[in-house]
Amino acid sequence: MKTTVVREFLDGLLHLFFPLVCEGCSRALLDGEQVLCLQCLLQLPQTHYHHLSENETALKFKDLTSVANATSFAYFINDGLLQHLIHELKYRNNKVLGYYLGQQFGVSLSEVPWVKTIDLLVPVPLHASKLEIRGYNQSMLIAEGLGRQLGIPASDTSLKRVKSREERVANVAKAFVVAEKGSLAGKHVALVDDVLTTGATLASCVAALSEEENVTVSILTLGIVM
Ligand SMILES: [Zn+2]
Repeated sequence: MKTTVVREFLDGLLHLFFPLVCEGCSRALLDGEQVLCLQCLLQLPQTHYHHLSENETALKFKDLTSVANATSFAYFINDGLLQHLIHELKYRNNKVLGYYLGQQFGVSLSEVPWVKTIDLLVPVPLHASKLEIRGYNQSMLIAEGLGRQLGIPASDTSLKRVKSREERVANVAKAFVVAEKGSLAGKHVALVDDVLTTGATLASCVAALSEEENVTVSILTLGIVM
């Protein structure tokens, strides 16, 4: 008990000298606020696509029969708040944002029936060269935040990019493979990505997952470019 009091006192002092500020508007955060102040959090332009089976995200994958569901958390608008947060996440080493935004996405999906049947969250694998520069896959951080909120495991080793030139030449469209063939058979796998633009990379991941027997694929992207 006593150490808690001391800790709280020290935390209070720390806040006094180094106040935690909102990543959106730079105002000091209030007790109970994390990363974003309540006002900024409410300003994120959420799509609410999970209420509509024929939403803009799902329409991008309508020709892929193995995609059962698809949704995006918020609109990615030029100079908008989400663009700023994702830039911080990808290029300024602000990893907590991935986790935080994943959690907020998870909150919005918590009562969605098809989300409850997801067995595994799989982030789109990053290029090896990018992973080396950045040191982390931002989509894995989003998947971890989602997973924490929804109680679903996340794995960044289930799907991998095809590396060798020979393999690529053999089949240009085949940029990804399931790391351990058969490991995802019969599962409901949700692919996780940061921002949806054309959907070409995700479609390539879907193609790899579809090689597994009786697999159901859903797609969850944090942002969608409008
Ligand atoms: Zn704010």
